[in-house]
Amino acid sequence: FRVLALETSADDTCAAIVDASRRVWSNVVVPQNYIHEAMGGIQPMVALLAHQRNIPTVVQRALTEAKLEMADIDGVAFTRGPGIPGCLSVCLNAAKTLAAANNKPLVGVHHMQAHALTPHLTLDSPPSFPFLSVLVSGGHTMIVLVSSLVDFRILCNTVDRSIGATIDRVVTLLKIPWTDKGPGPGLEKFCAERAPEDSGPAPKYDPPVPMPGKLAFSYAGLHSWVERTVSAAGGVEHVNRHALARAFQNSAFEQLETKLQLALRAHGHAVRHVVVSGGVASNLHLRQRLKRSVRGPVEFIFPEPALCTDNAAMIAWASMHRFLAGDHDDYAIDPLPAWSLDELKNPPPNKDA
Ligand code: ATP
Ligand code: FE
Repeated sequence: FRVLALETSADDTCAAIVDASRRVWSNVVVPQNYIHEAMGGIQPMVALLAHQRNIPTVVQRALTEAKLEMADIDGVAFTRGPGIPGCLSVCLNAAKTLAAANNKPLVGVHHMQAHALTPHLTLDSPPSFPFLSVLVSGGHTMIVLVSSLVDFRILCNTVDRSIGATIDRVVTLLKIPWTDKGPGPGLEKFCAERAPEDSGPAPKYDPPVPMPGKLAFSYAGLHSWVERTVSAAGGVEHVNRHALARAFQNSAFEQLETKLQLALRAHGHAVRHVVVSGGVASNLHLRQRLKRSVRGPVEFIFPEPALCTDNAAMIAWASMHRFLAGDHDDYAIDPLPAWSLDELKNPPPNKDA
């Protein structure tokens, strides 16, 4: 069974073809970083227009690179939510139209379920259920207990904003250059490099520790601490940017580490694997830290960086079990911009419908 999947929930326009034997025939990602860097973050309307412009080319490339035609495709999948409302409508409409015109079944996928199940696509021996999934991305910061392909229970969630969104804002605030892969890799590179300012005495930056002992994340306080530190110094030119960026990155990752330890203590008795995915999981410093911080028989799984950030291969794979069970969605299906993993099996009715 071969699935063509489309993903446009944030700022990457993606199409991929994956089959039931886990072969990835093609996996095309067209990013928009070059557009959004100038504006200091994702602008929803700009992202929507770029998706509209790029989606036909991306679909065409996915078919050409796989040397396949629509006749060789057995089902069409797309990201139903969560994500930026206007952006989601691009992959939804394209997938519906492709499916209807070619008389193929259609499946709408939960974007975070797809991030969590990525190792089941890439590994010959995937994590056994139940496993813990640490989802760290642009829109989410969660620890989830995954008991089957469709049973997800959120154990720890952010009370304010996500780690990825916080990283992106701090990168803008500290005027850290993006890499061609965006602001997050820019922070990683900036923290790892030796800078001229490192030759002087390092100032002591002391970030706050949010909600100690609680199974909840918070990143708003860390963000405003960076803002306060910069404005107290009289501007970004007057702080040691490398030292401050490292203090921020350390604190952001330390929070993941301590909450994961708490979650493992409370819910980890049957858990043998911890899967860390979502864009922030591509950070190599974070990977090393997490592996060092947890003792005991749990094994960490980090998908390769290119499959941690947004892609349609993960969407295709997360749809596969439904296609194989003959469980399809109606062509009239609506997007779900705010869809919780706790409601994966029973999606809420679309309020606008
Ligand atoms: P969501 O998956 O929650 O809908 P999204 O799809 O926009 O959000 P992803 O593409 O999964 O998010 O992740 C993007 C986030 O990951 C951005 O905030 C980006 O800065 C961050 N990120 C990417 N690479 C790195 C890295 N090497 N270090 C730190 N953060 C990173
Ligand atoms: Fe994502």
